[in-house]
Amino acid sequence: TPGIRPLVAGNWKMNGTSASLGELRAIGEGFAQGLDAVVDGLVCVPATLISRAAEAVAGLPFAIGGEDCHPKESGAHTGDISAEMLKDAGATYVIVGHSERRTDHCEDDATVHAKAEATWRAGLVAIICIGETQAERESGATLEILSRQIEGSVPANANAANAVVAYEPVWAIGTGLTPTVADVTEAHAHIRVRLAAKLGAEAGKIRILYGGSVKPTNCGELLSVGNVDGALVGGASLKASDFLGIASAYQ
Ligand code: PEP
Repeated sequence: TPGIRPLVAGNWKMNGTSASLGELRAIGEGFAQGLDAVVDGLVCVPATLISRAAEAVAGLPFAIGGEDCHPKESGAHTGDISAEMLKDAGATYVIVGHSERRTDHCEDDATVHAKAEATWRAGLVAIICIGETQAERESGATLEILSRQIEGSVPANANAANAVVAYEPVWAIGTGLTPTVADVTEAHAHIRVRLAAKLGAEAGKIRILYGGSVKPTNCGELLSVGNVDGALVGGASLKASDFLGIASAYQ
């Protein structure tokens, strides 16, 4: 989108130990070698790795994010992690509402909305995920689902500095399947229009990422679609060569 600097974000999911930090450093170094002139980069890692990941890319033009946060700042929530804790560990972004969280932890739009607000309370950027399931696509409900998720999950004070929206068709995540260029074009244009209805002119500056089986081999096509301002990358973010290959689509 004209005037929007693209973002390529990784999502390591429940993968990675201290042995993976070298891969992260290599990604950060790849951005330092010129990619940073054309694209922003970050990888969201498990909470156990955030502080060491932030150390591994210290001094490099590359950011670290969390994969989820609790809506509250602190309290009696055993096993949960607040946005403030992620920030303290070195994160600058947090994914909220990933479809795996929506499914595995029964997170609804109201929960995702609360988590996005929690990231802002802590001074972080929220990557708010939306996307239809296979059944919803087959029944022709995709655009209606996206409208509903935007209405419920994106707070009214979202702006280009505090929020990124990621369109991730659930059926394309980790499956090797991707929507057609026409389908991505339609979905991203719809998301832009729905964001504009909610946020006004600010919607024209918000990054809308595509996510779902993005690889070095298909990124050229997917990332050149109108209103696609970058990618959210799962599996292919685990290997520096794959992740840098995707970000290189912008060079
Ligand atoms: C994701 O986890 O957000 C994702 C898009 O995964 P993958 O790239 O592996 O499909």
